[in-house]
Amino acid sequence: MSIRVRYAPSPTGKQHIGGIRTALFDYFFARANNGTFILRIEDTDRERFHKDALQDIYDSFHWLGITWDEGPDKGGPFGPYLQSMRKDLYQNYALELIEKGAAYYCYCTPERLDSLRNEQQKRKKGETGYDRHCRDLTETERKSLEEKGTAKVIRLKIPLEGEVLFHDELLGDIKTMNKDINPDPVLLKSDGFPTYHLAHVVDDHLMEITHILRAQEWLSSAPLHILMFQAFGWKLPKFYHLPLVLGNDGHKLAKRHGSTSITEFREKGYLPEAIMNYVSLLGWSYDDSRVFFSKEDLEQLFSLEKLNKAPAVFDFKKLEWFNGQYIRKKSGKEIISLVKPYLKKAGFIHEPATEEEEKIIKGMIPLIHERLHVLSDVTELAGFLFHDPVLKDKNEFIPKRLDREKTLQVLEACAALLSDFDSRTDTENEESFRNKALELQVKLGDFLLPLRIALTGSRVSPPLFESIRLLGVEKTKERVKQALSFLSQE
Ligand code: GLU
Ligand code: ZN
Repeated sequence: MSIRVRYAPSPTGKQHIGGIRTALFDYFFARANNGTFILRIEDTDRERFHKDALQDIYDSFHWLGITWDEGPDKGGPFGPYLQSMRKDLYQNYALELIEKGAAYYCYCTPERLDSLRNEQQKRKKGETGYDRHCRDLTETERKSLEEKGTAKVIRLKIPLEGEVLFHDELLGDIKTMNKDINPDPVLLKSDGFPTYHLAHVVDDHLMEITHILRAQEWLSSAPLHILMFQAFGWKLPKFYHLPLVLGNDGHKLAKRHGSTSITEFREKGYLPEAIMNYVSLLGWSYDDSRVFFSKEDLEQLFSLEKLNKAPAVFDFKKLEWFNGQYIRKKSGKEIISLVKPYLKKAGFIHEPATEEEEKIIKGMIPLIHERLHVLSDVTELAGFLFHDPVLKDKNEFIPKRLDREKTLQVLEACAALLSDFDSRTDTENEESFRNKALELQVKLGDFLLPLRIALTGSRVSPPLFESIRLLGVEKTKERVKQALSFLSQE
């Protein structure tokens, strides 16, 4: 049996990290088994459809380096792969279910359904969902509604008794009483478009999908999908409802936890390698110890047997750590081209960069490379090389153990030391600064802090002496002068 899996996003918003995980698992599973990976766009909910979302899907996967074997842009033997282009086909399958007695027409108006819902909410207890009003319409009643041209939908007839049994490869056997299934979900809407329930069952069958990997939020709908497969008389694919992805508070990962879309991660300066590596470990592991996996590794090593059942916690710190590791693996040259867009966006450099700017960038890379967690850190770490710091708070300059007077004295001393800075070696400079600090009876850290702030505007910066050399002693002196006058203002 050749493996066929699909990632089936609905283009309603930006690609969420949870969806990315599903797609990666699909992709790696297919690659590791010589299978086929299919992209199918589930765009039948016309109200929630967002045209930018489709582009976001393509961009996100292109960026990650993930390709599919069949898809809307690629074609393939089971196309089209855009569900909106398959509209008529679903209608026929809905009619087939009606003929088989497994579905029926419902003529209820939105007003009736609204007031039904309101009543149910008021009652709080008791039945919820559709009341099966049209399930047993007589042929005469139906005819008269048809003659009036009443809008209609097609609903699945969930058996009133009995149970559905299915096997989830990850979660085991799952038994659901039919009476507990949300009554009679809509399969075909009045606009002629199918709902997700109908469309994906039909397509998973027609596209000969062998394994369905999807988010656990679909688990509760799985029984009704099974009922449909059974009603059609189709073979069931294997189901894997993937573990939830939670935030660190134990709730489903959402916006309030931080970035959740690929676009956001990308903009902040996460590398595709890091995202791919980290996301692959959300609910999957190779063994107890190995954490680093390249795309090529995963294309070979990934297996569904190693999926976990337990929810995965999305740890932003851990991802950042991974990202730092992958940034470190890049060459200086690569880092240059990776950080340039951030410098450009901050208005620090021109497009293309001037010769002078290129020189600064080249010089700064060794200083900041190891300190980057995300690429966008570059603007904070190296901003001082492109513009004077903004002096806003005098207290910033004053180390905890010193007061303003002493700080002024320290800065004056630094200014004096800067005069011969260039003629001394780094070791000599270290010694001069250390001696001066000793003489003024302040700790070296306290001695250097005001200078660091004068230079960079920040308490954290790349190594100080190297930063001075990079910016140039003249400019540094100028900044110290400005800081002195700022600090001495009343
Ligand atoms: N369109 C559905 C979604 O975006 C697909 C779910 C599935 O994989 O079956 O969640
Ligand atoms: Zn009805």
